[in-house]
Amino acid sequence: KPAVDESLWRSVAVVCNALIAVEQQLTDLDQLVGDGDLGISLARGAQAVLAAKSDYDGTDHASTLRGIAATIRRTVGGTSGPLYAALVLRTAAALAASHSWPEAFEQGVDAVAELGGAELGDRTMLDALIPAAAALRTGVLADAVVAARKGTDETAGIQARRGRSSYLGDRALGTVDPGAEAVVIWLDALATEKAP
Ligand code: ADP
Ligand code: MG
Ligand code: MG
Repeated sequence: KPAVDESLWRSVAVVCNALIAVEQQLTDLDQLVGDGDLGISLARGAQAVLAAKSDYDGTDHASTLRGIAATIRRTVGGTSGPLYAALVLRTAAALAASHSWPEAFEQGVDAVAELGGAELGDRTMLDALIPAAAALRTGVLADAVVAARKGTDETAGIQARRGRSSYLGDRALGTVDPGAEAVVIWLDALATEKAP
């Protein structure tokens, strides 16, 4: 099997390293409004993906992403694990069906919504992902970051209807959703890496 594409891997590594770097920040945030495992979960998944580079199939981007989705499914716990695995797997399927990256990402976001049953405004990672996917139609990653940041900031004013923070009632008010914040962090790292 061919080695993974180096350009794709640079992006994967940037996302993984960004998540590893903010482990404590996401832990603190998920401790405020959740059960405190988000930072550890995402950092563990990111380490596992980085360590598995040579196991992945580099035939095409879709093949590599399918391998990454399998690693995420195996190593990331909580609610984020299955949802991120679905995001990456559906993105891979859309790329294999020769959609562009922005279209493929949008389909990946649809998979998160289908699996988790949440909608925009439910105070979940979708409040970052959906605006980001919409903004990415222009093809400019920096626009997607701005949209994700805005959607995430708005979660501070939303009472959760999904996930653990829904148990808190209005105690989550004033704090952004940790899963949405995580999306902003990795997307911003990706945009910085891809900046011309
Ligand atoms: P858990 O609550 O199981 O510990 P994690 O800590 O892994 O989950 O992830 C928490 C994040 O998951 C939340 O901040 C939110 O962004 C996201 N989330 C929770 N429920 C859903 C859902 N139904 N759909 C999409 N995202 C969700
Ligand atoms: Mg949690
Ligand atoms: Mg948990």
